[in-house]
Amino acid sequence: MRPNGTLRKMMAKDWKGFATGLYDYNILKHIKALPPKQLQINITYRCNSRCDMCNIWQMDTKGEMTLEQWAEVMQDPLFETIEKLTVAGGEPTIHPQILELITLFMERMPRLQSLTLITNGFLPKRILSQSASIAKMCRQRDINLSISVSIDGLDEMHESVRHIPNAFAKSRETLLALKDLQQTYGFWLGVGTVVYRKNLYHVRDVRDWCAKHDIPCTLQVVGFHDSYVANTGQQAELDFTEEDKAYLYGLMEELAADRSLGNVMAYYWNDMIQMYRDGGARTTPCPFATDAFVLDSFGDVYYCLSERKIGNCLDGQTVGEVYYAPENQDFRRWMTRHSCLGCNSACFVHTGLKKDLKKYAWFALTGKLGRAGV
Ligand code: SF4
Ligand code: SF4
Repeated sequence: MRPNGTLRKMMAKDWKGFATGLYDYNILKHIKALPPKQLQINITYRCNSRCDMCNIWQMDTKGEMTLEQWAEVMQDPLFETIEKLTVAGGEPTIHPQILELITLFMERMPRLQSLTLITNGFLPKRILSQSASIAKMCRQRDINLSISVSIDGLDEMHESVRHIPNAFAKSRETLLALKDLQQTYGFWLGVGTVVYRKNLYHVRDVRDWCAKHDIPCTLQVVGFHDSYVANTGQQAELDFTEEDKAYLYGLMEELAADRSLGNVMAYYWNDMIQMYRDGGARTTPCPFATDAFVLDSFGDVYYCLSERKIGNCLDGQTVGEVYYAPENQDFRRWMTRHSCLGCNSACFVHTGLKKDLKKYAWFALTGKLGRAGV
């Protein structure tokens, strides 16, 4: 098996990360709570989309933190170990002070190596201008930038998922403009697609369109959660029928088939097949169970968005006090024995697999997944 380009880049840049990750994920995490290395910040829950599979757009966003409150919260030394940051929402580009917030985050995270922005792409001019500014800031600080635009189908299908007129035209305009901008700044640009009953048979169209434009497309099969997307009440209409499942497994098998060395997501898709089709437990490592967390615009802190919040940093506790609270650490351990085993989240999985290199190396050599557990 020859290393592909991705692996060569990973090996050149991340060898130190592999070594510390291997130690952190296989030894240290069993001894003590690890300081966070990855963070998702939902800077606002305001959203200009009306997606079928998510109810965030219906949230009351009164009481979201001001810039001054963010600055206060970010005084916590907990942020000093963060290496990877995802800025999400809601729709983060709606936030009128997104650039000030990202500047603040960069100042408070001196070890930051990569920043990911997730957007629905519905405001092309605004997003392009913000992205150019963020790309400049990242270049000045030697931070790798990734931008992911959500597209769930072509033309009417995207509109039908998002319930926004001309949804696909808007997202496409943003994506293609960002592709031009990419020539100047060299950031990573991709498409993210949520797969559920309505768009299942249209996902290949999105992947073909992305391939035609040389843009990577990543899939996330719909999950059902009481927190964040709060969509458990819609499971009956969003989830796959028995007939759909055969098609879904076929799609997963295609994604699982590319076992070229360095394509760590092959591990995840093989894992999803054994979970969905065979009823097995998740084996894919998840940073949210180990050294990642989520902070949102109300000051709520989560280990991950598939589970309940663990506290609030405007209630007299710092984020660090919430993160390290013994009862919360107990809850995290409980998660790894319960909710994680049935969880399909692909968030940060790429990093988790690189850090838990033992599992991935065994898979790359033998095609076999590791033991159940994240
Ligand atoms: S999935 Fe994203 S874009 Fe859609 S409603 Fe939820 S937050 Fe908004
Ligand atoms: S596997 Fe799922 S439930 Fe467990 S920490 Fe990760 S995102 Fe949360």
